[in-house]
Amino acid sequence: MKKSVSIMLLMSLLFTMFASVGHAASVPPKLFLEGTQLLSDVDPKIENGSTLVPLAILSEGLGYEVEWEPVMKKVTVKNDSTVIELIIGEAMVKVNDVIMDIAAKPQLMNQRTMVPVRAVGELLGLEFEWKAAEREVHMFRIQPETPAEPDPVEPEQPLPTGYITGVSMDEQSIITIIHTDVQKPVKPLVLENPKRLAFDFKNTTFEPYFNGETRVEVADNPLLTGYKYAQFQLNPLTARLVINIGEDTGYVLSESENAIHIALMPTAEIPTEPEPPVEPEPPVTTPPDDSNGAPFTVVLDAGHGAKDPGAYSKSMTRWEKEFNLSAVLKLKAELEKDKRINVLMTRSDDTFIELADRIKFAQDHKADLFISIHANSYDKTSVNGSETYYYRDNSKALADFLHPYVLAGTGLNDRGVKKAAFKVIKETTMPAVLIEAGYLSNDGDAKALFTESTQDKFGAEVAKGIKAYLKLK
Ligand SMILES: [Zn+2]
Repeated sequence: MKKSVSIMLLMSLLFTMFASVGHAASVPPKLFLEGTQLLSDVDPKIENGSTLVPLAILSEGLGYEVEWEPVMKKVTVKNDSTVIELIIGEAMVKVNDVIMDIAAKPQLMNQRTMVPVRAVGELLGLEFEWKAAEREVHMFRIQPETPAEPDPVEPEQPLPTGYITGVSMDEQSIITIIHTDVQKPVKPLVLENPKRLAFDFKNTTFEPYFNGETRVEVADNPLLTGYKYAQFQLNPLTARLVINIGEDTGYVLSESENAIHIALMPTAEIPTEPEPPVEPEPPVTTPPDDSNGAPFTVVLDAGHGAKDPGAYSKSMTRWEKEFNLSAVLKLKAELEKDKRINVLMTRSDDTFIELADRIKFAQDHKADLFISIHANSYDKTSVNGSETYYYRDNSKALADFLHPYVLAGTGLNDRGVKKAAFKVIKETTMPAVLIEAGYLSNDGDAKALFTESTQDKFGAEVAKGIKAYLKLK
């Protein structure tokens, strides 16, 4: 046995040497697991961009249970949770009874079964890195940060499947995941050598479905060198986004309508942890009579807060939540000059409040108007200006009426009145608008919005508009 292996090794070496003369591309790639080279009697081979390895690499090198069934020409590879079946010459794989397409076909070469290592390894929880210059395939076992301990309180419920429809990064190093029904990950796995953040999205797949992975290289950015995403596991269904980060890179996770944002920034710029949560307000069943006899109640809603900072202004190194709160406080002060208006705020400091609680607050207080203040962000930094959003028909008149006052207040470009299904203006019932005062991704807008005199003007003008709308002269 030993003898035949070494003869084969010699033969393959000779073959390699002859084959590689003058053809760098035909030099067989080397395989490494956690930095240790895996050797085999037959060289790995690259075909159509996929690395094919002899089956022994999977069993002896990687420790999986492997079966070969010659009649069906079927390979079965197993670990604790996953069973993978491949058939020679078929560009598909059966994973725990689900059939998926794969790019590379397993094949017989010189009587040896060669399998696409990446397609199989990733399904079994390995992460891959291809070092093109060295022609090296590096594999890493991904370990959860803490040993998985069954959670007795929350048994895993089969959740409806969410879909990721797009992943992109803007000029402010914010990676945005556009999705339907995907839950925000709690926190990423932190992997070393190279330093990476791996975000897992549970019960999530991609729409349209794709196999393999999408890899994006990022040049000249100290925060990251790139990111990639793939269907990491089918059971349980998990999509994974891995970001190759710099030594001093931190992140802030936030959410907006159908989007999850991962803002990368130097660790020094991470907003401080929110103070211990303030006792939640007891659910209001009967609205308190805090109207002071004023005929009108206006609820002002400063978007975001605390751990949910909203958009980031790179030029001002400040967060949207700060602008929203300042602007709301200015607006409140102006409105309160009129005793006929009872002004209430969903938040009056840097507190995190769920969207549902903002809606409930406005409903419980039987608000006559709901005004939500935000600032926007976009990956093209040239986009600038103020927008006023409404969603329900009973809010369009308020949006149309208020928008000129918004423009007078910000002094920014007119991007018009728009209809969009933001939750807070969709699920409230009174006339409700959401003002995107400007774009923090645009340096000019950001500078204006974080200027005290602009905020004063914004408060005064929007208050004037609200009073005029309520016919309070
Ligand atoms: Zn916002």
